Amino acid sequence: MSDGPTYGFDTLQIHAGSRPDPATGARQTPIYQTTGYVFRDADHAAALFNLQEVGFIYSRLTNPTVAVLQERIATLEGGAGAVCCSSGHAAQIMALFPLMAPGMNVVASTRLYGGTVTQFGQTIKRFGWSAKFVDFDDLDAVKAAIDDNTRAVFCEAVANPGGYITDLDAISAISDAAGLPLIVDNTSATPYLCRPIEHGATLVVHSTTKYLTGNGTVTGGCVVDSGKFDWSASDKFPSLSAPEPAYHGLKFHETFGNLAFTFHSIAIGLRDLGMTMNPQGAHYTLLGIETLSLRMDRHVENAVKIANWLEKDPRVDYVTYAGLPSSPYYDRVAKICPKGAGALFTFAVKGGYESCMKLVDSLEIFSHVANLGDTRSLIIHSASTTHRQLTAEQQKAAGAAPNVVRVSIGIEDANDLIADLDQALAKATA
Ligand SMILES: *Cc1c(COP(=O)(O)O)cnc(C)c1O
Repeated sequence: MSDGPTYGFDTLQIHAGSRPDPATGARQTPIYQTTGYVFRDADHAAALFNLQEVGFIYSRLTNPTVAVLQERIATLEGGAGAVCCSSGHAAQIMALFPLMAPGMNVVASTRLYGGTVTQFGQTIKRFGWSAKFVDFDDLDAVKAAIDDNTRAVFCEAVANPGGYITDLDAISAISDAAGLPLIVDNTSATPYLCRPIEHGATLVVHSTTKYLTGNGTVTGGCVVDSGKFDWSASDKFPSLSAPEPAYHGLKFHETFGNLAFTFHSIAIGLRDLGMTMNPQGAHYTLLGIETLSLRMDRHVENAVKIANWLEKDPRVDYVTYAGLPSSPYYDRVAKICPKGAGALFTFAVKGGYESCMKLVDSLEIFSHVANLGDTRSLIIHSASTTHRQLTAEQQKAAGAAPNVVRVSIGIEDANDLIADLDQALAKATA
């Protein structure tokens, strides 16, 4: 189909990027399980390697199945282009890679997926990069953290684990004023609930492992480029604006315009870092995306019911769901994610750490796993697992204090989920 801007989300999640297979007429996107592609002749090969012609060379760079997924996610996010990679964490490195250099930093929210806090706080130091963590509700602190060596601003739209909502408009106003790209991790919200580019995001990253695939089968990631950032407005992004020595002096911004970041990510990022998504993985994610809006509506409906039930329960101290009128983030729902605040939140159990451990062990429908965004309801005690490597201070700032559990509400029957929580809370607080 031609991707007319007039098509609705429900249509695009099924059709964007895919056409009947030209060779066989296959209606579902085939899994192009191949590493290489035969060149028409030597001139064709040379043109492909010079990026004068777009086509398939080698599956570390591009693959037709993965390309459909890239176009689909870019379309759903309203971006100019996208690059898929092997995991959400790979996507974060791929998003930072063209922007950063030794000595440069990223200003990041304290409210992030635990693995991202570790990746940014520790591992990227090996590249000579660093992260400055600040409370993104404190706009003056965000402004103050930006210095001459800052190359990006990073946050989650609906932040893990508490389900807090970031005021993307306020944050993008700050990054715009500083001439910096805003990178938004939209994993928990998905493009159905939130479209960060419409709120000023330059790049959107995803762990496609979660809601986009939606069935807990494969890990994957994606970086979507809005195509709206002027990489040549300053000398801060030479890899995009100046001759790039890693690609025989090609100037990506001058050559590819609003697709500069996407081409750089393929021609240099995937080529040299090799964090490639495989076609089999792309296939599972394409199947999942076809039902994204249906699932997200049910996820949200169930989350609202369960959060309301938990909030009234005397065995529960508090619930962080932004879809509850008691949440300090409630007012941001209508602005940032009008179709709902997602299905990820935490709640504090009376009795603290011990009760949380008992609760997790007593549930029958909820699975105790480190994943989120599955059709199945999931629970984890962040402080003893995903956020274990953080200091007590970091755990608290991230919304993963020892007395809270994080739930990812699935699309099962809400009454069954409530009954399961009820019996487990009875055991946990007996
Ligand atoms: C899971 C997750 C990641 C990391 O993604 P992987 O696919 O597990 O590498 C990053 N950000 C958020 C918000 C996540 O939930």
